[in-house]
Amino acid sequence: MMTIDNYKFAGKKAIVRVDFNVPLDENGQITDMTRINGALPTLKKILADGGAVIIMSHMGKPKGKVNMKMSLGQIQNAVAKALGTEVQFAPDCAKAKAAADALKPGEVLLLENLRFYPEEEGKPVGIDKEDPAYEEAKKAMKASQKEFAKTLASYADCYVNDAFGTAHRKHASTAVIADYFDADNKMLGYLMEKEVKAVDNILSDIKHPFTAIMGGSKVSTKIGIIENLMDKVDNLILCGGMTYTFAKAQGGKIGNSICEDDKLDLALDIIAQAKAKGVNLVLGTDCVAGDKFANDANQQVVPANNVPDGWEGMDAGPETQKAFANAIEGAKTILWNGPAGVFEFDNFTAGSRAIAEAIAKATDEGAYSLIGGGDSVACINKFGMADRVSYISTGGGALLEAIEGKVLPGVAAIKGE
Ligand code: AMP
Repeated sequence: MMTIDNYKFAGKKAIVRVDFNVPLDENGQITDMTRINGALPTLKKILADGGAVIIMSHMGKPKGKVNMKMSLGQIQNAVAKALGTEVQFAPDCAKAKAAADALKPGEVLLLENLRFYPEEEGKPVGIDKEDPAYEEAKKAMKASQKEFAKTLASYADCYVNDAFGTAHRKHASTAVIADYFDADNKMLGYLMEKEVKAVDNILSDIKHPFTAIMGGSKVSTKIGIIENLMDKVDNLILCGGMTYTFAKAQGGKIGNSICEDDKLDLALDIIAQAKAKGVNLVLGTDCVAGDKFANDANQQVVPANNVPDGWEGMDAGPETQKAFANAIEGAKTILWNGPAGVFEFDNFTAGSRAIAEAIAKATDEGAYSLIGGGDSVACINKFGMADRVSYISTGGGALLEAIEGKVLPGVAAIKGE
């Protein structure tokens, strides 16, 4: 597989898919530069080697229509500033051939939002899935998606995918375009390389003991990951809102705590699977309950399987925090996805903080720690501990699908799988 370090960019034009889907305020100002900064090493490397760069991205969900509130023109200056060089703008991503042809080494062209064209996502618009004509419309859209991808490909000599956030989508710019470049002229960008390596560290190249911490609100959204990890981990901490589905499944009393009543059997099955596979399953034994779902709720620590009526479990209790820390501190590989409580409320962050601190301690002692999935990243940032873990993934959905063991189309298209 070609790599960005081995490719000779001098005199070449590279079309680079990045994730510049940055949050904007009401004045169109960027409120968080993380995604732009994440792509800079790749873009700078190509420019430093004497290549020209055509940057393409989506922003928001314009659903195949032009919507200037989601125009990438709004970030042209910020990208130029971050790159330290002028950035040209192509106001129509499908009609940028002349601008691309005119690019000289070291120059940068930013294309308008790819999703202004429905072909980017490749889903037929304005037709219901139930409509008998849907299948025909889908076929026609797939054909025009190929044409769209071919047009984008025609701008450049090589293709670089550095958009991990959309790697789980088979879109024109993330996967289909790769068909128009031979294996020597397509590659992953640095950010993608790092993300793929991070996933590899916890799925293939595992150092034991391996502790995975899965939290958040529901077991149903995490089940694919839990099942894929069950054969790999030594310790599995299940925390957050799903604690109460497990407590109820085992006959506990959970008051007003959140619970998926249709997943009680699934919870028992997970407990049985862990036992059969020799996985140390760590579930909350005590919890901090609140008398309402609010930061200023009255609190009391109660057994997780005996929450009084009118109260709900909102965070892990002190005994549970110790058990979590014990399972984390000796680990050599750690994955954390999902908070241990309602961490958005400052008074219910102790459980998530205990996890973050134990991970930081284990990382100091040489463990590899990967934090991924929106809320645990928000947690670690809230606690100011982002620099105390090995890697924080930038891809929410993409990371989760990768950990479930699914092949990511954006990665497969480059690897030729
Ligand atoms: P998810 O999107 O499934 O990863 O869930 C993240 C959300 O789970 C966060 O917004 C947390 O506030 C929420 N959460 C964690 N623990 C609890 C709990 N005990 N009760 C209700 N919500 C929770």
